[in-house]
Amino acid sequence: MRTVALLVVICGAFIGVELNNPCVQCQNDQTCRPPDCFCCRDELHFPIPIEDTPQIVFFTFDDALTDAASKFYRKLFNESRMNPNGCPISMTLFISHQDTIYRNVNDFYKRGMEIASHSVTHSHMSTSNFMEEAKKQKSNLAKLGGVPENEIVGWRSPFLEPIGDMQPEKLKELGYVYDATLTYSKRKLTDKAPTPFTLDFGWPYDCKVKPCPKRRHQGFWEVPVVSLMDYKHKYDCVYVDGCNNPPPNEPSAYQFLMDNFNSYYTTSRVPFGINMHSSWFYIADRLNAMDRFINTLLKMNDVYIVSVDKTIKWLQNPTPLSELHAFEPWKCDNLKARQKADQSRTNNRQSTDLSRAEMQQMYIQQRLRQIEEMRREIELKKQRELQLLQQESNFVNRAWWSPPRRPNNNIHRSPFTQEISNAHVLENTLEETAAEPVKAEKLIATKSTRI
Ligand SMILES: [Zn+2]
Repeated sequence: MRTVALLVVICGAFIGVELNNPCVQCQNDQTCRPPDCFCCRDELHFPIPIEDTPQIVFFTFDDALTDAASKFYRKLFNESRMNPNGCPISMTLFISHQDTIYRNVNDFYKRGMEIASHSVTHSHMSTSNFMEEAKKQKSNLAKLGGVPENEIVGWRSPFLEPIGDMQPEKLKELGYVYDATLTYSKRKLTDKAPTPFTLDFGWPYDCKVKPCPKRRHQGFWEVPVVSLMDYKHKYDCVYVDGCNNPPPNEPSAYQFLMDNFNSYYTTSRVPFGINMHSSWFYIADRLNAMDRFINTLLKMNDVYIVSVDKTIKWLQNPTPLSELHAFEPWKCDNLKARQKADQSRTNNRQSTDLSRAEMQQMYIQQRLRQIEEMRREIELKKQRELQLLQQESNFVNRAWWSPPRRPNNNIHRSPFTQEISNAHVLENTLEETAAEPVKAEKLIATKSTRI
């Protein structure tokens, strides 16, 4: 009887786990069918053999699109860099409003990059400000950056802080297709990463930053921010630029990127995300490492560097490598049309929407932001030089300075408190004597006078 009861409890617990695990509930033949639904466990079930599966690499960069950040992005994503299908490589920019220079937004959009939202104020999101921030930033990117609203489909919350079920709910309402806020930690380099999936069965993994969505949000995509392992393979880092062990030079930075890439490429071929901020590139070694890393990827004919929206298009319709040259969503012949459409939009806007005074005001605001950015760059440069100077002076100091010699290096330290405190007293007295040679000399002089 006791055994039966125990079995019931164990089975009940097991069924409970099964029912609570959305990945188990999600069955791609019965409950979840592409293109509208993608199971969280579907990385195991790409309908094509692994050798014919492209390795997708998607880059995301967060925060204001300043002139300084744009310089780095233009270098890394220059127009001559092509995917194996002959189209330029692309990235996703999660842009916040403050300090953004909107002509850069427009320029990157025309080059085929994905423009996505990262709030207006870059503050902590809450149920009271979320809707306004997500709505207003979409409209900023459209009006000031000249990006059609229906092409702004991605959202990432500042500080990767979600606000629960309201987030996918409101984003869907506003015409967003995906969220890229929730985080997933790899503990080892060999750990398998999740594929982006739809929240048809909620968020199935550990909730690292609470609150995560719990309810179903059919057809709405979540692109998890999957951590990388640092260059020592010791700790994981959510952002490339957030490692506790930052790579100290160019070879280690390159190796760090390659090791993480290979942990996908040589195993599951799940899309590999590189999530970061431009500040990582202020150290030239890291910029060079990233440049070399991208060059290496470009030489591989089964690797594609595409934006997040293009990654989702592929997941909705997984296409083998051999047919990718004809895969419509990754074609680039629409780029010229994008530039033309943008030109006519700009002309219309200038003649109708914006008055001369408004144009002047926008120009002044942008110039002020540029000046502020230059000032910050100078400040940063000054700080870096100061740090270098300090490092140099520390080195010089170490070269000639040595600590005062302790005459009683061999004091026995007992585990008993009393003896330890006595030892300290003795040690301190001797130290004082060593530190005050003048006083000691005076004592000797007095003694010898007496003699
Ligand atoms: Zn941010």
